[in-house]
Amino acid sequence: MKDSLIEQTNDQEPLTTEQLTMRDFLTGLDRYEVFLEKLEKSIEEIGDRRISIVYTDIKYFKYINDTYGYQVGDALLKDFVAEMVTNNENLICCSRVYSDNFVAANFLSNEFTNEEFRDFIHEINLEREAKFREKYLNSRLQFCTGISIIDKNSRSLDAETAVSNANLARKVAKEMDEDCCILFDSSMMEGIKREVEITSRVPRAIANHEFMVYYQPKIETETLRLIGAEALVRWQKPDGSFIYPDQFIPLIERSGQVVDVDYYVYREAFKFVADRLAAGKNIVPISLNVSRIHLNKMHILEYIQELFDEFQIPSGMIEFELTESIYLDNTERALELVKGLHKLGTRVSMDDFGSGYSSLNLLSRLPIDIIKLDKVFLKENALQESDKIIISCVVDMAKRLSITSLCEGVETLEQSDYLKEVGCQIQQGFYFSRPIPQKEFEEFMDQKK
Ligand code: C2E
Ligand code: CA
Ligand code: CA
Repeated sequence: MKDSLIEQTNDQEPLTTEQLTMRDFLTGLDRYEVFLEKLEKSIEEIGDRRISIVYTDIKYFKYINDTYGYQVGDALLKDFVAEMVTNNENLICCSRVYSDNFVAANFLSNEFTNEEFRDFIHEINLEREAKFREKYLNSRLQFCTGISIIDKNSRSLDAETAVSNANLARKVAKEMDEDCCILFDSSMMEGIKREVEITSRVPRAIANHEFMVYYQPKIETETLRLIGAEALVRWQKPDGSFIYPDQFIPLIERSGQVVDVDYYVYREAFKFVADRLAAGKNIVPISLNVSRIHLNKMHILEYIQELFDEFQIPSGMIEFELTESIYLDNTERALELVKGLHKLGTRVSMDDFGSGYSSLNLLSRLPIDIIKLDKVFLKENALQESDKIIISCVVDMAKRLSITSLCEGVETLEQSDYLKEVGCQIQQGFYFSRPIPQKEFEEFMDQKK
């Protein structure tokens, strides 16, 4: 078979206008509407056979475009298509749904169970990854695949639903770091239902003040004094039950609503600080979490400026926490954001340091004020020797770079003592206090005066 479908068509008679409009201009594949028609027809004729729908997305494809330009990106997509159609006798049709999202439908050979077919595709993905990583010099490139299978029992499924099931499995696969090839199963629909339920309630929850800001004290290691607090959002439903951030933040990040929730939290925190100052009471700097989604819009700097204008509080009273992964998502944008926050006079920390890809090289490039060591290093009650080594090295490195070090997730006296021993300047964790409602935090501050 030829290298790509485009070359294949070049050798033949020129295509008619009608044929051209049925094909994707870049890859020469059938357009998605045509794909659906062909799939629909095959489902009608399925008999005792099975059809697999393989939906694949190229993770980190955008880095290829960003780094080497669109021409190289286009070449990669064509290469991928050539791989997909080569030596595939059972192929019904394949198409580019959009950008770097591809779908292929095959009659499934009887030699495979569904699970074996998944393993087979997984193997192919791994081989392709190795090949493409080498060719395109991108070590992070990864294929994420979701598979749905139609058999005689599910033949009533229409083509679009079958593809959307495969796409759903693909999304689940994309969120997993390791297993990037997954078979659709109906329990995934439950997750979607919950996501719709949560996201549809957010606007009303904001209007009804169902979101509340809790504060978790930060303690200076040397003096054991309260020197700051982190604002952490809680969602209390009208029936009184709580939804915790880990259960809803990832969902509202996908829908983009996290921006509104963050702004709500920021406003509450600014108001809290302003009210304490106006009443002549003591207050400590409050740090606010910044979702990665802000990087897409960058209105955040204007919004914070508006809050400073409205509440007239000193800029040193507010700090921002950006997770380590934000910096890796889009380093240039993140750098712009950090600089913007510094211009506003606020300090910035790198949150969850050590939880993901290590960003040691980023530290020298980014003007970060504080490193927040992730709580994974303190996961065991008794400190592990290896975690001890990492903690002391990070603290030492931070010191040399004139960056303040903070360790989160401190739950025991032993951990706290160790942090003191290695010179970690700030501590935060259940050992000192859980995140508490504003009123309780005010009492905490009043006592600690
Ligand atoms: P994070 O920013 O890493 O926040 C620290 C989390 O660790 C909090 O969970 C806190 O309650 C928990 N924690 C604190 N001390 C300890 C400890 O000693 N042991 C253990 N096991 N856990 C401890 P929480 O409040 O459930 O928040 C989870 C995550 O949700 C946060 O992780 C943050 O990424 C996100 N989040 C929370 N509030 C906001 C917000 O207002 N905006 C955004 N964008 N994200 C938020
Ligand atoms: Ca945080
Ligand atoms: Ca953290």
